[in-house]
Amino acid sequence: MAQPGNSGAGVDNTFRKKFNREEYLERAREREKQEEESRSSNKAKEPPIQRKPLKHRDYEVDLSSRLGKTQVVTPIAPLNQQAGYFCSVCECVVKDSANYLDHINGKKHQRALGMSMRVERASLQQVQDRFEVLKKRKTGTSFSEQDLDERILKQQKEEEERKRQRRERKKEKKREKVVEDTVEEDADAEMSALMGFGGFRTSKK
Ligand SMILES: [Zn+2]
Repeated sequence: MAQPGNSGAGVDNTFRKKFNREEYLERAREREKQEEESRSSNKAKEPPIQRKPLKHRDYEVDLSSRLGKTQVVTPIAPLNQQAGYFCSVCECVVKDSANYLDHINGKKHQRALGMSMRVERASLQQVQDRFEVLKKRKTGTSFSEQDLDERILKQQKEEEERKRQRRERKKEKKREKVVEDTVEEDADAEMSALMGFGGFRTSKK
């Protein structure tokens, strides 16, 4: 006996999604066309930027000038007074010295300085000159000794300068403290006068 429910004639079995192949193909073609157009128009607008090749640093990286210092850090302080190393080129703060070195050697920072990560190809003459310099250094001619002396002298000068600055700061602090103390003493005297005795010590008999 055939039951009407099992015949399958009135059952909805179209729950599988049916794709209209033609329609999606058409959409894909259109998208590709648009992408192609935007690509070509971008090319027309901006010629590729030629960045300079990588150069070596001509300054000493200062990692330790704030070593051992105490500093109050608040979230609203300007970036260069936040905890960590501040990069003035990228206006960002890096948390420690290792990451700071990574940052200033990194692609983003070099790009901000207008350099690509590519290194200039050295000419034969440059390589020969470099070898010459290294050879002289190795054989210990007067050139290298002079070089060493100069470096030692420079370091000594720098050290003296640092000491001088430290002394200066100490003096400054002392001066500030003296001013504070005198202000306090004045306030004490005034208060004593107001209360009718010369000083706290004299009130005791
Ligand atoms: Zn940077």
